[in-house]
Amino acid sequence: MYNPQETEKQILDFWKEKKIFEKLREQIKGNKIWSFLDGPITANNPMGVHHAWGRTYKDVFQRFKAMQGFDQRFQNGFDCQGLWVEREEEKDLGLKNKADIEKFGILNFVKSCKKRVEKFSKVQTEQSIRLGYWMDWNNSYYTMSDTNQLHNWFLIKKYFEKGWLYKGKDAVPWCPRCGTASSKHDIVTEGYKEVTHPALFMQFPLKEKPEEYFLIFTTTPWTVPANVAIAVNEKVDYVKVDNEGIKYWLAEKRLGELEGKYKILEKKKGKQLKGIEYIMPYSSFESQKDSPHKVVLWELASEEEGTGIVHIAPGCGAEDFDLGKVENLPAISPLNEEGIYSEGYDDFSLRKYSEVNKAVLEDLEQRRFVYKIVPYKHRYPHCWRCGEELVFRLVDEWYIKCEEIREKLIKENKKIKWYPEYGKIRQEDWFENMGDWLISRKRYWGLPLPIWECKCGNIEVIGSLKELREKATDKKKVDVLPEIHRPWIDEIKIKCKKCGKEVERIKDVGDAWLDAGIVPFSTIGPYLENKKEWGKWFPADLISENMPGQFRGWFNALFWSSVTLAGKAPFKAVFGYETLKDEKGEEMHKSKGNAIWFDDVIEKIGADPIRLLYCLQDPSQELRFGFTVLKEPKNSINILCNMANLVEYVGQQKAEKIEDKWILSRLNSLIKNFTEGLESLHPHLATRALQDFWLKDLSRGYIQLVRDRLSSNDKEAKYILEEVYVQLIKLCSPILPFITESVWQELREKKVVKEESVHLTKWPKAEDKKIDKKLEEEFEIALQIIEVGLSVRDKEQVGLKWPLAKAIIKSDKEIRKEFQEIIMRQLNVKKAEITKGKLEVTLDTKLTPELEGEGYAREIARRIQAARKNAGLNKGDKIELAIETKLNIQKHLSFIKDRTDSEKITVKEKIEDKSYKNKEEFSVKEQKIKILFNKI
Ligand SMILES: [Zn+2]
Ligand SMILES: [Zn+2]
Repeated sequence: MYNPQETEKQILDFWKEKKIFEKLREQIKGNKIWSFLDGPITANNPMGVHHAWGRTYKDVFQRFKAMQGFDQRFQNGFDCQGLWVEREEEKDLGLKNKADIEKFGILNFVKSCKKRVEKFSKVQTEQSIRLGYWMDWNNSYYTMSDTNQLHNWFLIKKYFEKGWLYKGKDAVPWCPRCGTASSKHDIVTEGYKEVTHPALFMQFPLKEKPEEYFLIFTTTPWTVPANVAIAVNEKVDYVKVDNEGIKYWLAEKRLGELEGKYKILEKKKGKQLKGIEYIMPYSSFESQKDSPHKVVLWELASEEEGTGIVHIAPGCGAEDFDLGKVENLPAISPLNEEGIYSEGYDDFSLRKYSEVNKAVLEDLEQRRFVYKIVPYKHRYPHCWRCGEELVFRLVDEWYIKCEEIREKLIKENKKIKWYPEYGKIRQEDWFENMGDWLISRKRYWGLPLPIWECKCGNIEVIGSLKELREKATDKKKVDVLPEIHRPWIDEIKIKCKKCGKEVERIKDVGDAWLDAGIVPFSTIGPYLENKKEWGKWFPADLISENMPGQFRGWFNALFWSSVTLAGKAPFKAVFGYETLKDEKGEEMHKSKGNAIWFDDVIEKIGADPIRLLYCLQDPSQELRFGFTVLKEPKNSINILCNMANLVEYVGQQKAEKIEDKWILSRLNSLIKNFTEGLESLHPHLATRALQDFWLKDLSRGYIQLVRDRLSSNDKEAKYILEEVYVQLIKLCSPILPFITESVWQELREKKVVKEESVHLTKWPKAEDKKIDKKLEEEFEIALQIIEVGLSVRDKEQVGLKWPLAKAIIKSDKEIRKEFQEIIMRQLNVKKAEITKGKLEVTLDTKLTPELEGEGYAREIARRIQAARKNAGLNKGDKIELAIETKLNIQKHLSFIKDRTDSEKITVKEKIEDKSYKNKEEFSVKEQKIKILFNKI
């Protein structure tokens, strides 16, 4: 019985002891290169089952290419820095916000984050090894390494020299808990959640006609004190209505928002409202003194939502900010880093934005600026790390301009091979629509941005440690710098070349996507140290990663660095896959209780069944993962490895019989399809074809067809089975590395194969001359008929051992005589009548005494064979046999004799059993039968 847990542990020991992976690397060293670039896994927690999915693909592709003989690097990567790691460490340390971290000390915090990464990279390494993932585990790269940081410094300096790096003011999405900007790149995909906020319909009087009001819509009341204008769409129709005695302006299409009766008094295009001034409830605030408080035109003002008149606060929203630039509006940004209102806003000052939300509603209501407040469900951005609602703040951040690189990125992406193909379009979409890249984060554990900004306005960007040493005011500090991280790096000051004053580094660290984006340079070669070696492996032939999120994440960062430094994309092909969910299609969450831990599932199920499940999955669809869906792959592997029992060494034979030619044709077709499937990045199609082969063609097909030949020791059948099975095991080995190795060792003991490990064998090559498509098609039909026939027998409850007189087969395809014979044999019928028509099998199930006699004889022969085995007899050992029965089986005695190696048979109703050593009694269809025999 197949026991993956036990087998896999033994195999892990075997690989380790015999250094099989090292031998494989030695075997392919110096060969033609196939370059795989690993996307780093965040070393933040133990690995999840979704990671195992991706790692299985990576392993399959690399093992496959190694068997084809390509030299590879087998380098794994760990992503080490950034807010995600910080956030998890904060939780473990019980720190709630940045103030807590600073109290704890930046040095302590950074050390603690580093320790976390060291710990979990070890855990993930062990887990990956358990999964059967073959990598050069002593040589993993870490994005926190100085090499990685320095390559990024080099890149950022390049951006600076091109004039792409700049400090800009913008209203950016901001997490008040993490105290840092969240790049728009971050929130595009996973940052939005559906939430209900109070939607506020405000009524602002017209300055010249205070008896008329604009009806204005907003879902963020805390931004109202920062309102500087209202916007309408020039093309939209607006109406003035009399609503229960009061006059309101709103979009005609939004009349449904009015409460009570109304009458339309006047209609105007938005264009005609331009410039009208209104009375704003907070115009007395000092920061409001330059605000125009008038109607502006804006194409984004929509009549599909609210009132069609939009509240504009350029300091509190990204689109508002853009409009503000066009309209020359002031930008008021009342929140500080922690989301708290600054001084100068009366009662709102020093209160958190969420409290200000309530306070504004109350205040406006009291002062009759509110028309109505209703709950409003909408998608709102959240911090993708900590889950807190984001606000918008006007801040100085560092950006890289995308204008000049955009077209080049799009052009390079077109040259890449993508699977699934829609990835290419999504990537292009991202490049088309992305804004400048906000790369600075006001955090601690990350790439220290190499920017020294002087108060005089001069900016120095440092590209290397050498340059830093040259410019440093205290060179010794550079010499003893323990690592390129905060807080150490913050100590190093340089001399401003313009004003001569001492300059500090800006405190910001980099977006963590920069860390992973530089790895085609920092981990190959590395680029700055050994360009020749780098050139051998660059660009990579393949990268493989989870798709959602990477278009703006890793893929994006890779493209940027590589197009900038090398003028092209760092990979030729990308294989992506979708999201892993639970069995019901829901996202797995610790808190929901539906999460499945890798360690748990590997202990209970083993690695191979999980790997098979992953490989069968269409990567463009979400994977539903759980213990129930793992049953099938486990059974399927069980069948694969059980067939090994039938394989023994017989030496080369010819294939003359039709079923032999057929299975060899199928095998060679499979080798072709499977290889092409992996090459073309369709592992699921390849794996399905592979599994179909071993379940349908081999186990349910060929082995059933040659069962009698095998038991009568037919050398040709045995040889064909051996040949097919050995090749099959090789094909399976990248997907099922454990069970194939275990089977291989069994075959080795039987002298069927020689190589020390299946993973040291060469990839099978298809022999075209053995492929006969017509034969395969004919067989397919015959096997279908057999399957239908067997199910009819099942339904009629006539066991296969009872021969039947006739099968009537309807088929719309021609069936050659040879196939008719196969069908008759497999269905155990004496005659087959074939007529034209849609596939259908009817059986004549009437048992004549003659047919019954034959059935009994077969069953008796089978029982004797089993009893012989139990008695320890070998093939060829002769016996004297006696059968006690009332049945008339005289006609079939020679059949029984043949099958059981009997020299002499006695059949009687009563047999004196004292003289027989071996006895067995059983019943067939309520007929008592006793068999007795002695070895002669
Ligand atoms: Zn956050
Ligand atoms: Zn200066």
